Amino acid sequence: MHGDDSLFDALVIGAGPAGVSAALRLQQLGYRILLIERSAAWPRPQVGEALTPGVRNIIDLLDANDALAAVPHVAHVGSRVLWRSREPDLLPQSGSAIVDRGCFDAALLALAQGRGIELEQPARLLHVAGTAGDWRVSLLCGEARCRQVRVRFILEASGRSAATGIRCAPRLAALWAEVDKSALAALGGSTQVEALEHGWLWAACLPGQRYRLMLVCDPQAARQAEPSGPEARLRAACASSQLLRVAAGLPLLGAVQMCAATPYLAPDSWQDGRLKLGDAAFALDPVSSSGVEKAMRFSLQAAVAVHTVLGNDGHALARRFFEGRLVEACARHAHWTEAYYAQAWCADLPFWQARARAEADGDGAVRPDLLGALSTERARLAAYQPPELKPLAALNPALPLRLHGAAALVQLPCVVDDRVTLHTAFDHPHLERPLAFLENEALFPHLARLAQPLPLAQLLQMLSACMPTHKAQRIAAWLWQRGLLESVG
Ligand SMILES: Cc1cc2nc3c(=O)[nH]c(=O)nc-3n(C[C@H](O)[C@H](O)[C@H](O)COP(=O)(O)OP(=O)(O)OC[C@H]3O[C@@H](n4cnc5c(N)ncnc54)[C@H](O)[C@@H]3O)c2cc1C
Repeated sequence: MHGDDSLFDALVIGAGPAGVSAALRLQQLGYRILLIERSAAWPRPQVGEALTPGVRNIIDLLDANDALAAVPHVAHVGSRVLWRSREPDLLPQSGSAIVDRGCFDAALLALAQGRGIELEQPARLLHVAGTAGDWRVSLLCGEARCRQVRVRFILEASGRSAATGIRCAPRLAALWAEVDKSALAALGGSTQVEALEHGWLWAACLPGQRYRLMLVCDPQAARQAEPSGPEARLRAACASSQLLRVAAGLPLLGAVQMCAATPYLAPDSWQDGRLKLGDAAFALDPVSSSGVEKAMRFSLQAAVAVHTVLGNDGHALARRFFEGRLVEACARHAHWTEAYYAQAWCADLPFWQARARAEADGDGAVRPDLLGALSTERARLAAYQPPELKPLAALNPALPLRLHGAAALVQLPCVVDDRVTLHTAFDHPHLERPLAFLENEALFPHLARLAQPLPLAQLLQMLSACMPTHKAQRIAAWLWQRGLLESVG
């Protein structure tokens, strides 16, 4: 496909963290990418500045450390969290950081361009014709230039959508403004989080002497309680708080901004030859501050699915993997969020009760299979109890071992050499999710022999034939301690 400037392997729409991560990863895998961004103002303002520590691994994988080194940021210096009781907990610094998101996104985009990814900005999609694998796309570039390209894949990473698809929890809205940091010097630069009766407040120091105040609440209830507008709502929330009362009367640096923050999953994230990534595919409750990490991680997984399809290695398998990761990301987050809302000191009030046991809502019969997969995954997570580890001293080497009776073998889509492949995996009530690899070693076919009892020495000999002995010992111990292997005798 290369050489002709109208032919690309993938068109990526949107240059936020999801779009640029996908573009960079696919380019690393050898594909030719065209990236379009509609915003002419760049760096553009964007919320979502608190980055969780997991972003670091992704930046490493994308080899983007140098490119991001100059992004203005504030290292997390700890948090005061008033959530479980009316007394704030002091949480130590956690390895997260607050960045200037506009600059973060711009630095990632500059890296992509530096690596040869072609960018059209400002640009937007006008029309798509053709079929999966051979899309004919018309773009509007700048004010009036039309450009026609042919692409094999379209990746939509255009951010949060107004159409929520499957709503994963009740509606949420966020409103925020900034104040001068010096006016809140008493807070010592630490992040403040407080559960209020009708929502929660988050406040943190941003790069550049600013302090962000953000209220997350039920949009309708907040309007009813304080009809006189967003600024009055934000000020009233601060005034009713313990940690941020001092901010209630401060002059704001600019107008109060608002956006929807309802968690959702877009059921059409996989269409043949056309995928959604990042917030276009699923949006998380901002309470975890992990949207950027999850968006970037999902893009890396989507790149594996695209690589699998473009290499003719299994379209159905790639889809199963992509949708499985999508459902898992939403289910895990919903599971965590529910538990977190349930811990609030005001958990018996309606705002909190509704979010402490939220059902996904499909708004009709859109993809009932995906909705079903989401509730199955959530039920599995809710039922999961980590096993109590058995002491190794209780393992009698004289007794043969076999797979525990409750162990089931399942076929699981896994990533091997950047492609999706099907592997036999273990499933067992003691596992949070099925397990195909441990310490990067495929467990099957070796462990299939354990359907029949096998002496420990033979098991170790068998495993050691394809991995170092100490690793074989660790893996056998890991499985035994969790009750996945049982002694017979
Ligand atoms: C109130 C709130 C607070 C949050 N706080 C945090 C936080 O503290 N930490 C965190 O990790 N996450 C946070 N998030 C989530 C985080 O902001 C998102 O998960 C993240 O920005 C998603 O990245 P993205 O690349 O998918 O989308 P975006 O960052 O929204 O990027 C999408 C890009 O696509 C472009 N675009 C849109 N339409 C088109 C089009 N038609 N053609 C071309 N380009 C287009 C846009 O201009 C934009 O540049 C928060 C979210 C909300 C709502």
